[in-house]
Amino acid sequence: MQRPKAQYRDDRQRLKPETGREGCRCKGVKKVRDGLELLPVAGESNLLLPGRRRFLQQVAGAAACVAAPAFGQSSDFWSLPRELWLYRPAGKGQPRDEQVRVVYWADGKLIPEGYMQLCYILRDVQAGLAVQFDLVALDIARGVYGWLRANGIDKPLIINSGYRSPQTNANEGGVRNSLHMRAQALDLRIEGVSTDALSRFGRYLAGGGVGYYPGKNFTHLDRGRVRHWVG
Ligand SMILES: [Zn+2]
Repeated sequence: MQRPKAQYRDDRQRLKPETGREGCRCKGVKKVRDGLELLPVAGESNLLLPGRRRFLQQVAGAAACVAAPAFGQSSDFWSLPRELWLYRPAGKGQPRDEQVRVVYWADGKLIPEGYMQLCYILRDVQAGLAVQFDLVALDIARGVYGWLRANGIDKPLIINSGYRSPQTNANEGGVRNSLHMRAQALDLRIEGVSTDALSRFGRYLAGGGVGYYPGKNFTHLDRGRVRHWVG
């Protein structure tokens, strides 16, 4: 079978997948090269210095506005390395399932390699565009993932949608000011966890907006104003 090639429409934001997988803990996801020029969405600060594996700008207390899950050693929750396990099923613009399980933040610093892999899997698959994903939105997802782990459920967050370019957002019927276009929102589900339970937990975390879409089997989480709705 011929291996499908990714198409990228914008050279500035082009991701160059590596062919080798050494050092990559993930299966099915392309590891991005060092020096990748992964840009922030217009108006957001640049968290990565293009061309170097160095964190440029300290992002102090990205998780400060997300509640720590109230279980176990919750007081330590945000000081532990922040890991996420994301799974993206194949779909329009994405020929194969992809997943990544990485630490994106540890010891008070962004881990650029892990962070960039998360940005890649949360890309706009239809347009083939990846951008720097919002850290608070990642922390909200990590709150959910940590809650699962603490309850003995080691399962990935299954991502329906992450970043969307304005064109893709329009194609998908997204609202005009959708936070997906700012890379600040994710639509997700978890195998074995009801949409209702997931959205209730999202509201408990109070990191931003929670959209409950029971008919579509996903929950929208964003880092915007704390609010909730049923879609
Ligand atoms: Zn959404």
